[in-house]
Amino acid sequence: MAQAEIGLIGLGVMGSNLALNIAEKGHAIAVYNRTTSKTGTFFETAGELRERILPCNSLEELAAAIRPPRPIILMVSAGQAVDEEIAKLRKLLSENDIIIDAGNANFHDTVRRFNELEGSGLTFIGMGVSGGEEGARHGPSIMVGGTEQSYARVEGLLNDIAAKYEGEPCCAWLGPDGAGHFVKTIHNGIEYADMQMIAEIYGIFRDGLGMEAKEIAPVFAGWNKGRLNSYLIEITANVLAADDPRTGRPMVDMILDRAGQKGTGRWSVIEAQQMGIPATAIEAAVASRSLSAMKNEREAAEKAYGGLVLDQKGAISHDDLELALFAGKIGAYAQGFAVMTAASREFKWNLPMGTIAKIWRAGCIIRSQFLGRITDAFGLDNQLDNLFMAPSFIEMMKEAHPALRRTVAWAAEAGLPTPALSSALAYFDGYRQGRGTANLIQGQRDFFGAHGFERIDQAGEHHGPWGSHG
Ligand code: NAP
Repeated sequence: MAQAEIGLIGLGVMGSNLALNIAEKGHAIAVYNRTTSKTGTFFETAGELRERILPCNSLEELAAAIRPPRPIILMVSAGQAVDEEIAKLRKLLSENDIIIDAGNANFHDTVRRFNELEGSGLTFIGMGVSGGEEGARHGPSIMVGGTEQSYARVEGLLNDIAAKYEGEPCCAWLGPDGAGHFVKTIHNGIEYADMQMIAEIYGIFRDGLGMEAKEIAPVFAGWNKGRLNSYLIEITANVLAADDPRTGRPMVDMILDRAGQKGTGRWSVIEAQQMGIPATAIEAAVASRSLSAMKNEREAAEKAYGGLVLDQKGAISHDDLELALFAGKIGAYAQGFAVMTAASREFKWNLPMGTIAKIWRAGCIIRSQFLGRITDAFGLDNQLDNLFMAPSFIEMMKEAHPALRRTVAWAAEAGLPTPALSSALAYFDGYRQGRGTANLIQGQRDFFGAHGFERIDQAGEHHGPWGSHG
């Protein structure tokens, strides 16, 4: 007789940890992995949780092991593997069974899969899971897209396995089809910007102020007690404090300065561009990882141009750097939430912005105290166009932007790159400039292409007096 409440396919890093989490929370789970030897190893190492785990060597066995209607989580590599597994499951599953893709899918794929399964009797859920290995094992942040009815059928289990913030599960239904995976994508874009800005400030400490990793670590640890309190600041302090067991030198000094990326940051920038929403801090963070990969070119260019220009008049204060990081962070989140607001309108998802910030407060990589302020801002107005316009954020930015300005200026003078912080500042300055400079661009466009422009004093389309020069 079928005993399991749920099934899971894909016992890689995320899948095996999520399966243990599910079993630990008291739910019997059937598991299957393409390479079946991994299933055996997983089961052997599951300890006392084995009594709630049913290892299966085929998809047929898996389907038979779960009580219908069956929810099955796919935690396989994103892309083709998901389509392959869905195709196989379609032949084995029956009416009302639910396939839950918990990988990092591109939301366009999720929408397509959702549509492809429409009318098949099967239900599809696209579920963003954040928090890495540790989150999957002990409580991730879970962002669900699909029908509200299908979510209601798995809500109890998902709430059990999700991270808790002051007792509240960090799990929510966010909207139809691709909504969950879209929000996860933007989460990752914000994560890129958050990490990049921290790295830029680290660069100022290391190269601008000549501090050793061991000296920088306590500064971040101190900041973690204040307005910047977050998982990323906490782990930054820990990474900076760690020694390399091989050489005894600071671990961070032994790590090659080439950052990897798996694509979700890039997707968030692509989607922002598609919708015409500026996400420049996220873009700068993605581009910085690409630039970091060009190690040889960078070394050659340093020889050609020389490195730093450290003829500063004085040092920048730690307080300024803290406040600058805070202002930059606000800019990055303002952009990320503006992208989600635009997507919500374009795809008619009606995304609950406050809830999104709420379920990011624990379990995920960008978890922080600060997210509570975003929840509060959207709680007052879910239709807010931009976080910069929430009264509490106006207050925070007024206090913080002068420090961001001083920091970016100081770094520029010193020849230190601060692409994400500078982009956030330029975005802020552009956003708050009632009369910008696009009037000139419109003039140029009309001059060379007769594209026409709007006037400030008259309705309709107009052309300039450029005559035959155009
Ligand atoms: P992983 O450790 O590389 O495991 C990949 C899993 O997918 C393995 O079980 C593998 O099976 C299976 N697989 C690959 N191709 C397959 C195919 N064609 N058919 C069937 N199964 C296939 O990956 P992971 O880190 O757990 O990531 C899984 C998903 O979670 C990805 O979408 C990833 O982007 C997402 N995610 C990862 C993290 C993270 O921090 N790692 C965080 C959030 C989300 P075999 O053992 O047979 O190869």
